[in-house]
Amino acid sequence: AKHDGRNGYRFYTQEMHERSSRLLRMETLLRQAAARGELHLHYQPQIDLGSGRCVGVEALLRWNNPELGAISPAEFIPLAEETGLISQLGQWVLRHAVQQARRWLDDGVPFGVMAVNVSTIQLRQKDFMQTVADSLREAGLPSDRLELEMTESAAFGNAEAAVKLLDELHRSGVRISIDDFGTGYSSLSYLKRIHIDKLKIDRSFVRDLGQDSEGEDEAMVEAIIHMARSLKVTVIAEGVETLEQLESLRLRRCHEVQGYFFSRPLPPGELEAWLLRQAP
Ligand code: C2E
Ligand code: CA
Ligand code: CA
Ligand code: CA
Repeated sequence: AKHDGRNGYRFYTQEMHERSSRLLRMETLLRQAAARGELHLHYQPQIDLGSGRCVGVEALLRWNNPELGAISPAEFIPLAEETGLISQLGQWVLRHAVQQARRWLDDGVPFGVMAVNVSTIQLRQKDFMQTVADSLREAGLPSDRLELEMTESAAFGNAEAAVKLLDELHRSGVRISIDDFGTGYSSLSYLKRIHIDKLKIDRSFVRDLGQDSEGEDEAMVEAIIHMARSLKVTVIAEGVETLEQLESLRLRRCHEVQGYFFSRPLPPGELEAWLLRQAP
């Protein structure tokens, strides 16, 4: 037993060592990723249930590295946040998404609004507002074509500064969407104080929808939709994969939906083809 214990300990530390050296290596490679052309954006459509049309696309970052392969943003975004690389990365995303939107406007591709994810850390930077304004001006994109997706902690944490920033963004015409809604700790009274255009119901509440049982998820989704509608905020459900989920959301009068049921996030050329197929 003593022997096993020692081996167990050695195994554990070796595993920890491997993990941290992978992260170190990843950090080094991530630092060079943009310059080496390893970053791409994919776009996932957001569909309005009333009209059946695509009213927006969400830009999602992809990183393909020759050594590490395709790395999930769920892995490299937190790393970028911890190491401060997120500012650079976030600027890259914003600039490229806005430029793509401009090209689609010029080409008459009916994408609606471009939704870009922004990290809490990015939002806390003093020059964030300037970065957004610069990207829009550089590309010549009307500000109401840009939507920023942020989590509850970004929008409601550090109250006064957040209220001020969201107010500035709103006055500039940029739209604001609260991502993963329902998973944070936000005080609902803030929803009245700040200007929000959209609430995104988190995927975890959508997963079990429409499976006969009238469970907690149904109640949660219904409450969020009801609240959003009475605050005159657009409500969208993410992670819609099945017809049952879709029907359940339609029944509860959710405005918009997004998920694999309609389309996975696609490279720009494929998204264009998808949009043109949908057009009447
Ligand atoms: P998120 O913002 O909540 O994005 C939704 C995630 O759900 C995406 O994963 C998307 O591909 C996935 N998804 C969409 N539809 C479905 C579905 O029907 N079923 C399932 N199971 N999943 C679906 P992805 O692209 O791997 O991104 C993961 C997270 O990484 C994002 O979650 C976001 O928090 C972060 N992220 C991605 N791109 C960026 C970015 O450019 N900037 C920042 N700050 N974060 C990003
Ligand atoms: Ca998002
Ligand atoms: Ca989300
Ligand atoms: Ca999520």
